[in-house]
Amino acid sequence: MRNAVLVILSLPQVLSGWLLWILFLTVGAVYKPKVKRPFIPFAIWRPWIAKRWRFSNQFGRLIVMHPSHDRNVYVHELVHLRQSENNGICGFVTGLVCLFFGLNWGMALAVWAMSLSYPVLAMFGAWVRGYRPYWDSENERAAYAQTYRRWLERWIDNDLK
Ligand SMILES: [Zn+2]
Repeated sequence: MRNAVLVILSLPQVLSGWLLWILFLTVGAVYKPKVKRPFIPFAIWRPWIAKRWRFSNQFGRLIVMHPSHDRNVYVHELVHLRQSENNGICGFVTGLVCLFFGLNWGMALAVWAMSLSYPVLAMFGAWVRGYRPYWDSENERAAYAQTYRRWLERWIDNDLK
């Protein structure tokens, strides 16, 4: 039940993830597709991508793993998945508030869909603080902190300097 609520409230993230999954499968960018619980599309980068692109990724509700990555990286991507669900909920509530204040349905849906861009705001925040936009965004820090203690300790040391 809780997962169903999350899926509904983060519909932009769910739809974008599933559409990208279908696109990646169609163009042969990924293989070994699975639907992990709860309702998470999953695949692995094919070697022609993996030799150039050394990352695992989360796109909305989709997780694509690099073939050499382990369980820790998968857990890291699951953190991003939960962050994206939170973004969806935030976008949903913002859209609802906009609707309440007179915005039309189409614009309210657009506000909800804009929640796909929230990770970029986290990068912008890191850049404004003088940090590296991607690696030092709070999204990345939170995901690494939940999986790699050594990263957490390094960032805490840097913040306390
Ligand atoms: Zn990450």
